[in-house]
Amino acid sequence: MEKVPETSSTIKRADQYMFQTYGRFPITLVRGDGCRVWDDEGREYLDFVAGIAVCSLGHSSPLVQRALQEQAGKLVHVSNLYYTEPQTDLAQLLVENSFADRVFFCNSGAESNEAAIKLARKYSMEKFGPERHVIISMINSFHGRTMATLSATGQEKIRTGYDPLLKGFRFVPFNDIKALERSMGEDVCAVMMEPIQGEGGVVCPDPGYLEGVRALCSEKGVALIFDEVQVGMGRTGKLFAHEHYGVTPDIMTLAKALGNGLPIGAMLSTEELAQAFGPGSHATTFGGTPLATAVSKAVLKSLLDDGWVMHAKNMGDYFKAGLEKLSQKHDVIKNIRGLGLIIGVELDVPGAPVVEACRQKGFLIIGAQEKVLRFVPPLVVKKEEIDLLLEALDNIFKDMEMKRG
Ligand SMILES: *Cc1c(COP(=O)(O)O)cnc(C)c1O
Repeated sequence: MEKVPETSSTIKRADQYMFQTYGRFPITLVRGDGCRVWDDEGREYLDFVAGIAVCSLGHSSPLVQRALQEQAGKLVHVSNLYYTEPQTDLAQLLVENSFADRVFFCNSGAESNEAAIKLARKYSMEKFGPERHVIISMINSFHGRTMATLSATGQEKIRTGYDPLLKGFRFVPFNDIKALERSMGEDVCAVMMEPIQGEGGVVCPDPGYLEGVRALCSEKGVALIFDEVQVGMGRTGKLFAHEHYGVTPDIMTLAKALGNGLPIGAMLSTEELAQAFGPGSHATTFGGTPLATAVSKAVLKSLLDDGWVMHAKNMGDYFKAGLEKLSQKHDVIKNIRGLGLIIGVELDVPGAPVVEACRQKGFLIIGAQEKVLRFVPPLVVKKEEIDLLLEALDNIFKDMEMKRG
């Protein structure tokens, strides 16, 4: 029998051999099933992180396994110089179920936003000339860690140390239509935003805000880019978050849940914008491999056919109702927000100790900004699993209140 490595050994070696770019929890995860994961000491955790909004159909999904195995036995990768069926099938499925006319595949959220930034710039350059190149983005946004997406990210703590960043990005506060209006000069080519800010603390748009943004963009001929990397693919209770608000973007980016864990991203746009990208305009070696797209296709089909999007809405409502009840008992809860299964709970104390207390009780959750707890479980989460977390949170808040006196 193979010897199970000790947690301490894996952690020690990781800390020795890898860049220390992550502040990690001291556990080594080895296996998952549905909403549960296990560490190498056999300890079970209920996973309300899901790889940060990635594994929507849960861990070890039989459907994902089947798609992976079948495609792995046929064709894993060829160049984008050739057509492949799974890639074409996924593109068709995405177009048929969205505002978009065309899809470009890549490998991550940052890459999909890179593609969106390049497309918006190229379209505007060709149509209006080089002066019009500024991209307006939001304070507290998150669009990725590459140099261009970092330049589009409105968080100082993430940007610090990498100057000079790309020129041509301007920031306005989220939910402030007047500020956007003032910033919309003749030099603006695009507005880039998350319809619901994820990393920024699960911040939802105020009623009328996205409609206002859309109207401003349309009036000025400015491209509207929605980054749905975190909130897309059914998480909010609709396939795409912007569908809740009756507005459509010109460009949309997807990644996280698109492949349920297989790395894949996508940039989608209208025909009008898509015309700016011709052969040689943009490319990637791995973007949309047969393997990744075969899995994504199976995942998207399941989201559409098996009712998971409605389930996400129902479980989100149930979860939020439970949290509301908790907030009546515990003053530490200041605000509960989100849509479907992306939920943020703002506390009046730092969230990190609560995240750690949850982990010690066998629940994985994460924060977003200093005082917000973020819940992004698999969309297949069950009521009983939500109940268990609510009970644990109740006890954790009780303990905190005891200590505070
Ligand atoms: C995670 C995230 C990204 C970056 O995705 P990566 O795959 O980590 O590059 C971009 N935008 C949003 C809204 C995200 O949540």
